[in-house]
Amino acid sequence: MRELIDKLYSEHSLSREEYLRLITRADAQLSEYLFEKAREVRKAVYGNDVYIRGLIEFTNYCKNDCLYCGIRRSNKNAERYRLTKDDILLCCKEGYELGFRTFVLQGGEDPYFTDERMTDIISAVKTRYPDCALTLSIGEKSHESYQAFFDAGADRYLLRHETADPQHYKKLHPAGLSWQNRINCLYDLKAIGYQVGCGFMVGSPYQTAENLADELIFLKKLSPHMVGIGPFIAHHDTPFSNEKSGTMEMTLFMLGLIRLTLPEVLLPSTTALGTIHPLGREKGIMAGANVVMPNLSPVSVRKKYLLYDNKICTGDESAQCRECMQNRMRSIGYNVVTGRGDHPGAGV
Ligand code: SAH
Repeated sequence: MRELIDKLYSEHSLSREEYLRLITRADAQLSEYLFEKAREVRKAVYGNDVYIRGLIEFTNYCKNDCLYCGIRRSNKNAERYRLTKDDILLCCKEGYELGFRTFVLQGGEDPYFTDERMTDIISAVKTRYPDCALTLSIGEKSHESYQAFFDAGADRYLLRHETADPQHYKKLHPAGLSWQNRINCLYDLKAIGYQVGCGFMVGSPYQTAENLADELIFLKKLSPHMVGIGPFIAHHDTPFSNEKSGTMEMTLFMLGLIRLTLPEVLLPSTTALGTIHPLGREKGIMAGANVVMPNLSPVSVRKKYLLYDNKICTGDESAQCRECMQNRMRSIGYNVVTGRGDHPGAGV
């Protein structure tokens, strides 16, 4: 199996069958070998730097009904909130003072935030913080809307594709949502000129090892600037409340494979990974990730943006999260750096 990792290390791609062999034989020893190689590749591109992104969860209203997600429309127990433009600017101000130079505006698909309201917010943030990158993560929109957000100053867009398999997609989403549309969105975003992030959950219901192999083939083809992955974790008020969570081991293994497949990719060690294990985010960095995304949302709303159960850091102030992350990264020999942290190939 090590030969396959060596091959991936030098060629940055494998066949579906080869990826599948690695995924089905993953064990502790093979993982350690993979992570060593992934760290080497990451070090050559990014050194020991870890980029931070300030995550602002600005609305938990959502018109969609994804079966796995705690803020799905049908969850009547979710207490809904929206931040105002001023709230958002205040989060940015606090974040800026703490050294953040990327802000991520994430939310459900909330019709209240029309293109007009969004472009107003985007240009307000970019006017006040021209040296910062602004990332959006607000779901599927038309080409025109994406263009308008880009013209208003948005730099990056996160839209996890959730699964590379259209049949699997149908098992995770209600009939109105289409895999093809989501994929088209990713290509639209790329064509417009965004730095684009896709991603998927590890261990989502009905996911197979073949699906995971297909994820890597899909990633190689799309070649995104960023890839966000984390374990699926059940939320008690969803149809998947009794489903098993994804494992930390497989999430880490996938992080390592992604680093070797896309050496320059911006790869977050996610909050979900930190939720299934107290040292999950540190282990994610040790497996090849190079980004962390501490929360900048006001503490008053944090517990309400609950996509899955037991989410961490919902009681901490932004400054505490920033400090805690710095210490965690230092403890494993990495430096949190301020700076936009663009993809080397982004042309900025
Ligand atoms: N509405 C935006 C942002 C979605 S939330 C959009 O459509 O892109 C961000 C991500 O959280 C989702 O893309 C999904 O991959 C992840 N997520 C949602 N529910 C989850 C769960 N139960 N466990 C783990 N991750 C989950």
